[in-house]
Amino acid sequence: MRLRHIKGCEDFITDAKECLREDEAIALKGKIQDIFDVRRPLQIEIGMGKGQFIRNMALKNPGINFIGIERYESVLMKAIQRKRNLESEGAIDNLRFLCADARKLADIFETGEVDKIFLNFSDPWPKDRHANRRLTSPDFLQVYDRILKPEGVIEFKTDNVGLFEYSLEVVKDSKWKLDFCSFDFHSEKESEGNIMTEYEEKFSSQGNKICKMIISR
Ligand code: SAM
Repeated sequence: MRLRHIKGCEDFITDAKECLREDEAIALKGKIQDIFDVRRPLQIEIGMGKGQFIRNMALKNPGINFIGIERYESVLMKAIQRKRNLESEGAIDNLRFLCADARKLADIFETGEVDKIFLNFSDPWPKDRHANRRLTSPDFLQVYDRILKPEGVIEFKTDNVGLFEYSLEVVKDSKWKLDFCSFDFHSEKESEGNIMTEYEEKFSSQGNKICKMIISR
């Protein structure tokens, strides 16, 4: 994602009542659901960008609490502004945000606190020496293993075949099971009701096929 720093975005994030900064979230470990008015099953998107997917998930699933996680303030600010714009039609009380690096998730969430993790169009980090930065690397899968409930699942979508194949290899060499796998998800019956992310809309409109996997333990 091309990043443009937006003046004042750090203060905006600090002041936003629907968002926690990384240090605040770490201090709240084990009580993260306190940021919602009501405790419900918890689903998170890691690297949510401007938040189109998680916003629509929250609107469609009022019985679930959603947390969108994004490390860059300037990107997160857009997600918060778009949520607020929508709220002229009623509060979206099941959606909150974290400005945090995914590496810190085990310091933020309690063991087994999360029901589902979404990884959508994660940065591919094509150079081998950057492989451990990929959000589907073995190190990250270990973090997800810790914070996910035993019956929890991870859903991963991307148009990047290289990243998808790498992720399949990581899963194959791990204790994770592949519950669903498609290199052309939009052509599958399972894509009925699929909620598109910003990147998914952009890349599929350019003719790229969308890959999806669902994994569990
Ligand atoms: N998920 C969105 C979508 O599908 O439209 C955005 C995809 S964008 C390519 C990837 C996003 O993940 C970027 O906004 C980036 O800042 C964020 N990101 C990458 N690595 C991250 C990390 N370690 N922790 C938190 N966010 C991360």
